[in-house]
Amino acid sequence: MTKQIVYADNAATCALSEKALEAMLPYLKAEYANPSSVYSLGRDSRRAVEKARETVASAIGALPEEIFFTSGGTEADNWALKSLAKRFEREKRHIITTSIEHHAVLNTLGRIEESGFEVTRLGVNEFGQISIDELCCAIRGDTAFISVMAANNEIGTILLSPEIGSRARERGVIFHTDAVQAVGHIPIDVRAMNIDLLSLSGHKFRGPKGTGALFVRRDSALLPDMLGGGQERGKRSGTENVAGIVGLAAALDDSVKNMKKNSERVCALRDRLIEGVLKIPRVRLTGHPVKRLPGIASFVVECIEGESMVMMLDHYGICASSGSACSSGSQEASHVLLATGLPEQLARGSIRLSLSEDNSSEDVERILQICQGRRPPAGIVAIMEIIRALKCIFGFSAASYFIFSVRRLAFVSSPIRWLSKAFCMALLCVHLSSRPFSIYGSAASYCLASAVAKYQAIIMLT
Ligand code: PLP
Repeated sequence: MTKQIVYADNAATCALSEKALEAMLPYLKAEYANPSSVYSLGRDSRRAVEKARETVASAIGALPEEIFFTSGGTEADNWALKSLAKRFEREKRHIITTSIEHHAVLNTLGRIEESGFEVTRLGVNEFGQISIDELCCAIRGDTAFISVMAANNEIGTILLSPEIGSRARERGVIFHTDAVQAVGHIPIDVRAMNIDLLSLSGHKFRGPKGTGALFVRRDSALLPDMLGGGQERGKRSGTENVAGIVGLAAALDDSVKNMKKNSERVCALRDRLIEGVLKIPRVRLTGHPVKRLPGIASFVVECIEGESMVMMLDHYGICASSGSACSSGSQEASHVLLATGLPEQLARGSIRLSLSEDNSSEDVERILQICQGRRPPAGIVAIMEIIRALKCIFGFSAASYFIFSVRRLAFVSSPIRWLSKAFCMALLCVHLSSRPFSIYGSAASYCLASAVAKYQAIIMLT
């Protein structure tokens, strides 16, 4: 039997829209000429790129000559920030950003900081919002630029407001926004919002992956990124990704034209999901209750690592993601959730379910059925409660400590070693055979089972 898949990770990437695919196909097949070629086939490709530029510009209230195509949001962010830093390095060496930016901005600004700039990272409130007054106070005579994301990718809070741009403009400071999660989902007008530079990414609004764009207002000079054949008006050399650019424009056009309708539908699905998930004990909503992106429902669950929940949901065919990064087996708390004031242990237990117009109410009910499900037998509940209590008291690795101390025992005599192996296997079986009962119990059993699996691997090597 094939597993029913529910894709609820649209903030990571989404499926290519039919409109985008349709628009791209000719440029992947018959219309393959280089847009820099002077013969008619080449001129056709050039026309397609320039038409796409006009479409992208009109979607955000810009002029076509203010749009530069890139390979995605990361490149657009890097290019914007590095270019601004280079431009101001002799006169102004102060930058303002927020503490919840995507790593494409955080890490780039970190590098710029190392070269002698001072970076002020504005704090956020419990919902992930910045204070405009604090932003204004942070602006100094030597502030070169401000970079504030339009909407957060982990908790969905919308940060962009016309006030940020107008305050920056009043003080003569350039304003960049990473609008990767916002473009195509909420209305954005760069002129009305006094935005000087904006980064966007195709695959976040059902365009192809590896495509993006940087908007740069005419008077905020942009330094060249790639040197070479002089494409993108000499600012970004390299043969254009014609099919990708055409697909990005088609997807954006479709998203903008249907924004109201899609947003109403996706918001209703998101709100139903939030309402259902919040019925589970020890779960909290993260991000702003109202000022949030249509598709993002994000939570923290007490005492369970985000990664364990993601694996548990995957076991039942649900694609979700966690704000915490799991590197070399250790769970790191999300910088976004820490910035909203959540304690580290809670911040490690984040889970993000992000919906799009491709999702149905059946998808939402299926997620809720898996997460809420029926209660497990009393014995299992008791075991889970003990694990939970252990984890709460001793921290997340309590279960692993327990298992590792059993491992030491296992060296003592082989019957204990075999007994412990049998215990581990039994636990794994309980996990794998358990009917969905609750995100809590199931993820807890997954946590333990994965710790046990690690122990198993080690004991087999010893
Ligand atoms: N900025 C934000 C807010 C994002 O969410 C992402 C991707 O998730 C990026 C930048 C990077 O975009 P890309 O994947 O197109 O490089």
